[in-house]
Amino acid sequence: MTTARGVFVREHGEHDVLELREHDVPDPGPGEVQVRVAAAGVNFIDVYRRQGVYPGTTPFVLGDEGAGTITAVGAGVDGFAAGDRVAWGQAGGSETTLVNQPAEMLVHVPDAVDLETAAAAMLQGMTAHYLANSTYAAGPGDIALVHAAAGGVGQLLVQLLVAKGTTVVATAGSSEKLDIARGRGATHLINYAEVPDLAAAVREAAGRGVDVVYDGVGKDTFDASLASLRPRGLMVLFGGASGQVPPFDLQRLNAGGSLFVTRPKLADHVADRDELEWRAREVFDAIAAGALKIDIGGRYPFDQAAEAYQALEGRRTTGKVILVPPG
Ligand code: NDP
Repeated sequence: MTTARGVFVREHGEHDVLELREHDVPDPGPGEVQVRVAAAGVNFIDVYRRQGVYPGTTPFVLGDEGAGTITAVGAGVDGFAAGDRVAWGQAGGSETTLVNQPAEMLVHVPDAVDLETAAAAMLQGMTAHYLANSTYAAGPGDIALVHAAAGGVGQLLVQLLVAKGTTVVATAGSSEKLDIARGRGATHLINYAEVPDLAAAVREAAGRGVDVVYDGVGKDTFDASLASLRPRGLMVLFGGASGQVPPFDLQRLNAGGSLFVTRPKLADHVADRDELEWRAREVFDAIAAGALKIDIGGRYPFDQAAEAYQALEGRRTTGKVILVPPG
């Protein structure tokens, strides 16, 4: 048994329910490894967990994403040893100094990638990977609309799409954010806070309806996203940063031109061990090769977790926000 310091959600609620507490960490159980955490990723899923949108019992240590170094290995674990550098994007309790994680959720971090970058890349990087490769196999000749393109998923998705030869129409809420999207390769830029008719602006920029829309903003953009598609285009609703989309009439897909809509999540794209390793490897290889830039736009110590989440939820961040243990 060892003592650690972690960011707890005391009860479901807003930022004031977060507190840094000491807690006991038992020896790793069967199938688990114990990891000294170097950094944890800040994500919207943590917000949903804190608020109780995703059910769970309180109190709990927040954070699905992190990276660190293995300090101990439980019974029955193959392929991992003390001293290995590992990362994960789908295992809870990450915002602490020491954590036991199921080995099946971890991947090795290659030497060329530092642990803060690894913690920043896992959840949003693998999300961008499945969106660009599996939800829709984007390629040359395609035009994709990416909302919140200066954000964590947004910046990575733009880069992966551009690398596949796809033209990207990017939206964001300020000219500074649009400059970031341009730097990632988007060629058509729209400040959605300023245009009166977003779908018309997209069609004008693209010269036609787009082939696919990647929408993680949700409630505020969904209608315009649907109206931006070409006949038989694909609407990918992958989040609700502005709120969840209310139920809608399926006849709208008919009226829009035989449209498709999907609501994917990362867990279904890394459930298989081979698939997890494949996506993580492709993301890490691209980072190591300099082809995928990770922008760590915010770095907060654990005791400022509330400020980190306020910045994310308040649209004041670009790229990735991470939390680091006290020095
Ligand atoms: P971002 O870094 O993209 O931050 C969210 C951005 O959304 C903001 O910076 C802001 O950009 C934009 N936004 C627009 N309206 C609002 C609003 N009312 N409140 C807050 N933000 C708003 O976050 P992430 O990259 O971490 O996540 C983006 C989305 O992807 C989220 O919805 C998240 O839940 C989802 N997601 C889904 C996954 C999946 O597998 N389905 C996995 C990972 C993330 P701007 O100022 O430019 O408008």
